[in-house]
Formats: sequence, C-alpha cells, structure tokens
Amino acid sequence: MFRTAVPPLPITGACQCGRVRYRMRGAPLVFYLCHCTECQRQTSSAYGESLRFRRPDMEIEGELRLVERLSESGARRQGWFCPDCGVRIWHGSTASPEINIKAGTLNDTSWLVPAGHIWTRSRQRFIAFGEDELVYDRQPDDGYAALARRWREMTQV
Ligand SMILES: [Zn+2]
Ligand SMILES: [Zn+2]
Repeated sequence: MFRTAVPPLPITGACQCGRVRYRMRGAPLVFYLCHCTECQRQTSSAYGESLRFRRPDMEIEGELRLVERLSESGARRQGWFCPDCGVRIWHGSTASPEINIKAGTLNDTSWLVPAGHIWTRSRQRFIAFGEDELVYDRQPDDGYAALARRWREMTQV
C-alpha cells in the first residue's frame, strides 16, 4: 500500500487564471479517482480526481459560477467553476455536507495518492491498477466507507 503525508493545513489551491483561490482548513476525508463516463466528459480526460472535504472547512476567495444537474435520487449535483477561465474547483450535492475538490487545482499535488478507483467498468484501457488497490466496478455499495478507511491508513505516517 502506498503511504503519503497530508501537508500542513490549510491546503490551498486556485483556478488556472488565479482569480479564484481556496483554502481548506480541515484534512481531506478521502481521495479517489472516478472513471465514470460523466467524469471523463466533464474533465475531458481519462478520470476525475475527487479530494473530499467537509463543506464548512472551505474558504473561497473570488466568485464562482454554478452548474446544476438533477440526479436520479432528486438531489441537485452542483459543479462550481471560475467564470473567467472555466476551471472546475469543486463538486457537491445538495444531499451531502461533503464536497469534492477537483484535486488538479491544488497548489501542491505532489502528495496525492488515491485510496482507490470507482466506476472502473468504463476506465480507459491504458489505466492499470496495483494488486492491492481498492477497485470498484461501479459505485461502492458502502458509500465511501472502505475508501475512507484505507485513506486514513495510508495517511497515518
Ligand atoms: Zn480562473
Ligand atoms: Zn465519476
């Protein structure tokens, strides 16, 4: 299992043009990669990177624009992005007090190692997984409990 150290708080990040900046005052709850086709399209890349925090831990400087989609459960999925450069900063749902920072926006990404992968049934063919990695074909049945447990183990250094 990979191990990593969460950097000293606050964890900071910004959009590409620098108009939007954020500070996270609490440690991340989990970090995972999502290989679903929605994330592939939304990131225009191979997978989405989700670094999960408690919403009250976030401080934002600068104005974000919101896009919303209705999920099957009736909750509103929200994506927040810089209106100038279009970079997504975070995603959330009106049904959850937790949010996912798009981890590529961190000022320092060197410490990121995923606790696991979800929706691997639609992964790009060139993505390979380590033998002991947590890999889920679709959404994990337990919510994110096993991923969060592994994240805590990985970051106890
Ligand atoms: Zn920007
Ligand atoms: Zn996804």
